[in-house]
Parts: sequence; structure tokens; C-alpha cells
Amino acid sequence: MKNENEEIIKMPKVILHLHLDGSLRPETVYKWLKEQGKDVTLEQVKENLMVGKNCRDLNEYLQKFDLPLEVLQTEEHINQATYELFEDLAKQNVIYAEVRFAPSLHTKQGLDYDKIVESAIAGMNEAKEKCKIDGNLILCCMRGKDNKAENLKTVEVAKKYLNKGVCALDLAGAEAIFPTSDFEDIFKKAKDLNIPFTIHAGEASGAESIKKALEFGAKRIGHGVRCLEDNNLVNNLVQNEIPLEVCPISNLQTKATGEPHPIEKLYRKNLKVTISPDNNTVSNTSIIEEDKYVLENTNLTINDLRQMNINAARGSFTEPKKKAELTSKLSQKENEIMQK
Ligand SMILES: [Zn+2]
Repeated sequence: MKNENEEIIKMPKVILHLHLDGSLRPETVYKWLKEQGKDVTLEQVKENLMVGKNCRDLNEYLQKFDLPLEVLQTEEHINQATYELFEDLAKQNVIYAEVRFAPSLHTKQGLDYDKIVESAIAGMNEAKEKCKIDGNLILCCMRGKDNKAENLKTVEVAKKYLNKGVCALDLAGAEAIFPTSDFEDIFKKAKDLNIPFTIHAGEASGAESIKKALEFGAKRIGHGVRCLEDNNLVNNLVQNEIPLEVCPISNLQTKATGEPHPIEKLYRKNLKVTISPDNNTVSNTSIIEEDKYVLENTNLTINDLRQMNINAARGSFTEPKKKAELTSKLSQKENEIMQK
């Protein structure tokens, strides 16, 4: 197992599903709170940022975003958080990552959407210069009540920065409370503006939610694990080669799936499975932990994990030329490793 762990660490990786606000370094949040004169310990900060073993569901999981969203309200903090996340990923041999966040949740101290997105792009670009990593940002619309204006604004800002650091849109939030069908207008506009999008679906809700996302024109599905409830839907996803952004440890915590995680089942059905950590900090995980989980709890092998990274490169929202570069990098390294 030790050699296998080393191989996981060395393996070049591509991440498609990772939330900025769910992946803050606890030490950084602690420092920010201290600067604000708050009387906290690092232990308390960690407790507030991470779910425990007894997390009940997605709604409880989502409460762990309260503190991140309290501190991510200035350009400096958004910039630093984005830089640090890409730096952390580069250390794990992630060669390309799509990091997502919702601009509408960072306006509490008066920042406008442009400033928010520009701060994140600047942090990402600094990491691209200093670390060996490439990436893009995905802007999240939010499930919620009476927030259509904010979501439409998010679509507009995504268009403005498309191919300039932003690559796509997403829909995030409480799926079981606010069904995907409520957000048709938002994605009609995204489609009209030619902005590609993924949608969190089939996590807290079932197959219906995924079908709606596909009907809207989603090019990928966030999680999507509950597609297994409907064979026709599985066939549709296979035929259209729709990548699933599968996040095993997060799914177990939110009770989207039971143990063991069905990632092997999804993969054996020839679905385009990719593997991501969802939230490094909230889930207390990393891409390396996710890969280890898969090897320890399923019959999948490191070569299957390599294939999932190739699926991720092909399914990424980056430009075709970069996609090809990533895919060849992943395949090249594969040959090098196999020759050893
Ligand atoms: Zn997510």
C-alpha cells in the first residue's frame, strides 16, 4: 500500500469540482479572525470549518460555509484564498483545476461582482506564475428563494470574464429544498450567451434533478451519483459522454450515498467518471485522500484513477488546445510510470 500511496501522490491529476469557500486553510482563517480581534483558538476554527463523522445531510454540511463566507468579503482575502488553494493543489501534483465559488455570497461588505471575480482571477494567476499549475474559475449560481436577480447577474459576469479566467457556470446549494426545475430561466440565459455549465444534481435529490440539468443543457453533472436510480438516464449519460464530477468522501458525509461509495459501479457502467474532493476543508479531504479511499474501498486500480483524470481533462471547460495538452501530459506520465 505504501508504494501505491506514493504513486497516487506522484500521479498528475485534474480536478473539476472544488469549492473555494469550502477549501480555506484553517490557519489562514484563524489569522484573519485574530486580526479582527476575535478571541478564538485554531481548534475552534477547525471545528467550525469541518464536518464531523456524524454529519446528517447536505443541509448540515452547508452550515460549515458560514464562517468562510464571513471572512471572504474583501478583495485581499478572496485573492489570498484563491492563491493558497491553487498552491495547495500544485503541491499535490494537480496540473489543472477548476475552482468554483458564488460571487453573490461575497457582497456583504459592499464588493461588486466584478471586484470579487477579478480578485479571484488575480489570486489564481499569481499561483499559475509561481507554481506548476493551470486552472480556471467556475461561477456558481445559488439555489434559493427570490434570488433570480443575483443569479442573472452571475450569468452576466461569467460572460464578461469568459475565457479570461472564468470557464463556466454552476448551480450550487440545497438541492432537496430548491429543485433544479426552478432555475430554468437562469440556464436559458446561459445557453443564449454560449456559457457552458455544470449543475450540482443527483446528490441530495434523485434522477429527476439530473434529467432537468441535462434538459437545460448541462455539459457535466456535479456528483450525479443518484443516476443509478434510473437505467434510462444512465444510458443517456453514457451515450452523450457526460462527465460526472464524483466526490466520494463528501457524498458519504452528506449521505448522498451509503458505504461503500458506488464510484466503482458508476465506472463499470462506462459513465465518464471523474474524481474530485468537493471541499478540501469542509470535508477534511484532498484529491490524494479521495484516490486513497477509492483504492482501499473498491476493486478499482491506479490505472482506473489515471483514466478518471483523463476523463476529467477531456471533460474540462478549458479550450480544446489546452484539453489536448492536458490529455497528452496525463498519458505521457502514464507511460513513464508504466515503464518503471
Ligand atoms: Zn459541490
